[in-house]
Amino acid sequence: MKELVFATHNSGKLKELQAMVGDKIKLLSLDDLGCHEEIPETADSFRGNALLKAKYVQEKYGLPCFADDSGLEVSALNDAPGVYTARYAGVGCTSDDNMDKLLGALQNQDDRSARFVCVIALLHKNEPYFFEGTCPGEILRARQGTDGFGYDPIFKPQGYDRSFAQMSHEEKAKISHRGKAVSQLLSFLRG
Ligand code: IMP
Repeated sequence: MKELVFATHNSGKLKELQAMVGDKIKLLSLDDLGCHEEIPETADSFRGNALLKAKYVQEKYGLPCFADDSGLEVSALNDAPGVYTARYAGVGCTSDDNMDKLLGALQNQDDRSARFVCVIALLHKNEPYFFEGTCPGEILRARQGTDGFGYDPIFKPQGYDRSFAQMSHEEKAKISHRGKAVSQLLSFLRG
């Protein structure tokens, strides 16, 4: 079985991705490598941050690696929080803090449209390759469902009447930004 490092500490993302890639590739997280540091995400784009993380792991551990960077772009907020999605409510904040801040920011807003974006950067023979996926939808007025992670309870994908937090991993993976980016990554890896 091939091993590939997925440069993340997020166990929710790791589980989602391992389910998507199947059992031919074993994904190792940063914690599996004994790396407990937060890799700085100082770039101003999803691509830039994904590449920073992949390069960090390759330089430090010399292992084949990919990283993702993802976030939420909300139309009424001029595409914020964007690259700040994880720390929208401040450094060290929880997902609940982030959702509360977003619900507050959109309290009197009728335009609820938003999209999730995911960019994966893979370092393959020292060359970077990028895979991108987006998922359009809207921000609900209150939380619905308890599964998933991050902003899942308040994001309803377009064409569905349930939030991401009310979907199984499999159902979400078919339509999610990360699912789309991962399926491109897998086609590339399968050659
Ligand atoms: P990063 O990609 O680890 O920098 O984090 C992106 C932020 O977007 C995190 O706060 C996640 O919770 C959020 N996010 C990314 N993808 C999803 C998703 O599929 N569902 C809910 N939140 C997400």
